[in-house]
Amino acid sequence: MPPKSILIKNGYILTLNHKREIITDGSLYIENDTIADVGKTEDLKGHKAELVIDATNKIVMPGLIDTHTHLAQALIRGCADDVSLVDWLKKYVWVLQGNFTKDDGRVSAELCMAEMIRTGTTSFIECMIHTRYGFDGIAQAVDRVGVRGALSKIIMDSTGYADSADIMYPGMVEDADACLKETDEMYTKWHGKADGRVQVWYGLRSLGAVTPELFKDVARRAREKQTRMTMHLGEVVDDVRYVKDNFGTNLTTFAREHNLLGPDMVFAHGIHFEDSELKVLAESKSNISHCPSSNMKLASGFAKVPQMLNAGVPVSLGCDGGPSNNTYDMIREMRLAALIHKSYVNDPLVMTAEQAIEMATLGGAVAMGIDDTVGSLVSGKLADVILVDLQGLSVTPASNPVSNLVYSGSGDAVDTVIVNGKLLMQEKRLLTLDEEQVKANAVVHASKLLERSGVDISPKWPIV
Ligand SMILES: [Zn+2]
Repeated sequence: MPPKSILIKNGYILTLNHKREIITDGSLYIENDTIADVGKTEDLKGHKAELVIDATNKIVMPGLIDTHTHLAQALIRGCADDVSLVDWLKKYVWVLQGNFTKDDGRVSAELCMAEMIRTGTTSFIECMIHTRYGFDGIAQAVDRVGVRGALSKIIMDSTGYADSADIMYPGMVEDADACLKETDEMYTKWHGKADGRVQVWYGLRSLGAVTPELFKDVARRAREKQTRMTMHLGEVVDDVRYVKDNFGTNLTTFAREHNLLGPDMVFAHGIHFEDSELKVLAESKSNISHCPSSNMKLASGFAKVPQMLNAGVPVSLGCDGGPSNNTYDMIREMRLAALIHKSYVNDPLVMTAEQAIEMATLGGAVAMGIDDTVGSLVSGKLADVILVDLQGLSVTPASNPVSNLVYSGSGDAVDTVIVNGKLLMQEKRLLTLDEEQVKANAVVHASKLLERSGVDISPKWPIV
């Protein structure tokens, strides 16, 4: 039986509470799925817990929240590197994904979630589940594994400008009516299920892949169901061109005219906004998922994140996918988010380690619409907690644990992960997944997928 109460003691607690207090020699007491008490170890020693975890030399902090991820792409990690975006899509990613089976979808999701837990991610937004990946199997895996996930069914009814560039792969095309029907079915079956850990969202593919009428229809359906939406927006300059050429407008005006702005929307990437549009995003409280690794790898550009934060736009962080990142490690993502903007605008003051942590925790909770229940370590919130070890070589000396976490750390330093009060990893051992089996399954499925799809990923150097 899993412990009903857990006392984590002697830790360096990043509470992310409204004062952003750090508690040295701190304790956190969990009862069932809830944080029941947080404070100095001395003050909490009266709590008698079924399990006591000593967090000496460890950071105790809210679980990380990845707001833009593709579970299915873990299986095609390393299969599309150092190529143009057109080739990335046309020759590799869409061909591989267009040959997925439902078993591939489940195996990839398990691989992805195993990596997420190992690197401290407790919640995520999966932005587009194609029917061929098997939504139901993925939702079952989320239920079994114990993480918190917003699962977005992909919505599309056009091949749009992908088709005009002749890059759309037939296996990736979906029918609008079938998309909407499957979303309804999965919403009824899974939304709010698995102890409230699973949400079902609408994953609008991108501009050009969804017709204007369907954008409006989906916005109406999402609000009727009181669920949420996500879509790629402003990742590529083509998005700007598309709305200008076809509607004579900019991205946010298009979004407003199609009812896509609001706190229930997560725009992934959000790179190519004009300065004047940031105010519109802030006023509408539309969320941006900033994906620095993906943006750098695909040379998409630099999102105006410091300006967005100054303007009050809700910004969170996303790892994107296996071929664009190529990890699902949010600690490494925090590092890049804290670094790249300094260089881009020639100012080391524009982004701090603390802001990177806020984006990866509270910002993510806002994007998922769950900031009243997760995202910080305060009494009464759900117990989504991670412990990060500060004793590795790369994080020694831990004179400033916040700095070490963001600038010196990686997901390898994560030691223990708790979601909804349940242990998913303890002392670096996964408890709800058989790690060796997950890896073995991934190797077999990836090799069969490569063979079936005929994609050549030979190294650039000669093999002898
Ligand atoms: Zn994406």
